[in-house]
Order: sequence, then C-alpha cells, then structure tokens
Amino acid sequence: MPKYELVLLKNMAQPGYTGSLEAYRQAGGYAALEKVLKERTPADIIEEVKKSGLRGRGGAGFPTGLKWSFIPKDHKGLKYLCCNADESEPGTYKDRQLIERDPHQMLEGLAICCYAIGAERAYIYIRGEFDLGAEVLENAIQEAYRANLFGKDLFGSGVNVDVSVHRGAGAYICGEETALLESIEGKRGKPRIKPPFPAIHGLYQEPTVINNVETLANLPHIINRGAEWFASIGIGKSTGTRVFSVSGHVKRPGNYEVPMGVTLREMIYDIAGGMRGDKPLKAFIPGGASAPMMKPEHLDIPLDFESIKEAGSMLGSGGITVMEEETCIVWAAMNLMEFFHHESCGQCTPCREGSGWVLQILHRIEQGHGREGDIEQLENLCRRIEGKTVCAFGEAEVGPILSSIKHFRAEYEQHIREKCCPFHPNATLSMVH
Ligand code: SF4
Repeated sequence: MPKYELVLLKNMAQPGYTGSLEAYRQAGGYAALEKVLKERTPADIIEEVKKSGLRGRGGAGFPTGLKWSFIPKDHKGLKYLCCNADESEPGTYKDRQLIERDPHQMLEGLAICCYAIGAERAYIYIRGEFDLGAEVLENAIQEAYRANLFGKDLFGSGVNVDVSVHRGAGAYICGEETALLESIEGKRGKPRIKPPFPAIHGLYQEPTVINNVETLANLPHIINRGAEWFASIGIGKSTGTRVFSVSGHVKRPGNYEVPMGVTLREMIYDIAGGMRGDKPLKAFIPGGASAPMMKPEHLDIPLDFESIKEAGSMLGSGGITVMEEETCIVWAAMNLMEFFHHESCGQCTPCREGSGWVLQILHRIEQGHGREGDIEQLENLCRRIEGKTVCAFGEAEVGPILSSIKHFRAEYEQHIREKCCPFHPNATLSMVH
C-alpha cells in the first residue's frame, strides 16, 4: 500500500487497469472536460489553475495558470498547445509511465488546456525512443476521436480540438521548448533566442503554450476536486503531488508519487527501500542530470522547488539519482559531461567547444593523467559557459561539474596526486565506462 494518497498514479495502481478509454471513463475520466465545456468559461479555468498553485513539472517549475494567461485573448489567428513528452533527462522516466499506462488522463488535461487558452490544435511531441508510448498514444487518440472527445463540437459545446502525435528523433535538446517548436516545424531542433517568448511567437509564430505531460495530467483532478484541494497538498509554493523517478543505488528504484515536500531522506530510505547493500550514501542528484549534486548533509531538505534551490540545486525533472560510497565522483561527472557534450546542439561556441574541453580534462583526471591546475581550469571553463549561451543547457551542463568539485574537491585532488582513480586503479576508460 502506498503511504500517500495517489492521484496521478491511482488508476494504474488498480489491479487489471488497462488504460483504455472504457477503463478511464469507468474511473470517472472525461467528466472534468465535460464539466468545463458545459459550465465554465476559459477565464474561469485559468483562474482555477492559478489558484491551485500548479507549477510546470518538466523542469523549470513555472506557474502553469500564469503561463496560460500570457496567451493574447484577442489574437485573430491560430493558437497552439504543445505537450512536451520529450522526456530525455537521464534518470527521469515518469512521463513515460503516465503515457504508457494511463494516456487518457494526460489527453483529458490537454483538451482542458486547449479550451482554457483557446487553442484548437495540439501536438504531443514525444521522445523518439518511446515507441510503445507513441503507439499507446496514437491508439488512445483514435479511441477518443471515435467517442467525439476530440474533433469538432466536443460535448455539443461548439469547441473544436484536434490533436496529433509528433515523434522526435532522439535529440535531448528538443525537450527545450523552443527547440521543440523548431522540430515540429520541420527544422533542426535548435533553441531560439528569447524573447520573443512562445506565448506570443510560438509554433509557426503563433501564440503557443508548451506544457509537460505530468502538468497536463494534473488538470482533470484540479477541475474535479477543486483548486483548494490541490493547494492543500504539498508545501509552500510547491503544491500538489509529484511523481519522482528514483534510480541508482537504492533497493527499490522506480516512480513514486508523493506530496511535494517529503524529504530526500524519506524518499531514499523509506519509499525507495534504502541503500542497496545497506552501503553509506555518498551523493545524489535531486532533479535529473542537469541538477547540481547534493550530499548526505542535505537529506533532510524537503523536495520542493524553493527548498532544493536554496540548498544549491534544483527540483528539475524529478529524477533522483542515488550514489553509494564506492561511486567515483570524477567518473560520475565525466559520465554526465559525455552526455551533455554529445547532446549540445552546437549553435553557441561556449557550449559546443567548452563542453568538449571540460570533458577532455575530466577524462585525463580519471585516467590518472591529471595535472596541477586542472581543477581550477575546470572551474574557469564552467564559469565561461554558464550564462553565456542561448539556452539553459549551458547552466545545466556545468551544474553537476561545479557541484561535484564543490562537494568532493578532495577526491579530484586525490586522483591528480595519486595519478590514478582510487576506485578503478587499474582501469582504462573503456573499462570504467
Ligand atoms: Fe545549443 Fe548548447 Fe547553445 Fe543551448 S547552450 S543553444 S544546447 S549550443
């Protein structure tokens, strides 16, 4: 039995739940959509979502209702909703489960959002590797169209909403909202310079909202149970539940839905079963690979946007990666940087070139060829990347490196002093990978 009341994962926790339209409707599905179309105005819905305190679950945590309110109401042309299902952050796999196991929950939220912002066209941009998720979504959309839950004149309201799935091709950066728009438009997925923001010049230069899968999945529940109910869950400005993906050296890795504000200690030692082999905890990443590393001294910090930020990291995508005492931090930082260097879209020199230089230095330290001054050089390079790029990827890629040096500088120094990795003393790079 889960310790906390499930909201988003509730249906799929029922034995035999298939995620079909019939099963979803039996569980009360699409009642919220009918209610908003028959009884509520778009402005009402935006106010309700603002009151709920719902914040984006993709990474940035921007208030959802506020984001919607930036869409110009008197715009004469088309407006769009893009659902960001390009879940590519290492250690994060909660949207995948929400899509594969209960697709109509997110689709209902998507239709509610379209009504609220006045969009008649929605795209779901799904990560290219999610073959099953794309198939499940396509089938769910067809089911919903057959039941007139998408298409023309929904519930006799005169409201039209069309939705289709757009598959990515494996580039991490397409999860960045403006790169996602470029990709849907058929161009190379490169982030745009902001402003202008997508709410004014988004998809095909029309006003566009981009919302994450989990964000949209919350909407039917906010409509059915009210903004006050949602706001009563969680802590401070972080309301509602959150689905966290826990991975790494824990006994029970997986997706867990908990109220915002549970502590990392509870998440790791209680909910995820504790450390694998009961080994001591060395470090963890609280919000996907882009989030700065944290140490055991941070275990009692609540998992909410503000507390994690104050402690020097970020809640990000909700992917918690746990590392036990025998994990080499230099190797972990190198591993993360290999990912980021590979995924840089290449349009900014500091990100494109700098990530490669940082990686080279990490490689040589890990291989036992580190030099005096390498740690300072790493810090210097990272400082020359962050804040000097078109998109937030610059900050994302240096966060784990700078935090690993801040918290584990002695381990870097040991690698350089002893001219080998203390955890893999005889290993070549291909062995430690
Ligand atoms: Fe591309 Fe990196 Fe620049 Fe972002 S920071 S636009 S990923 S080169």
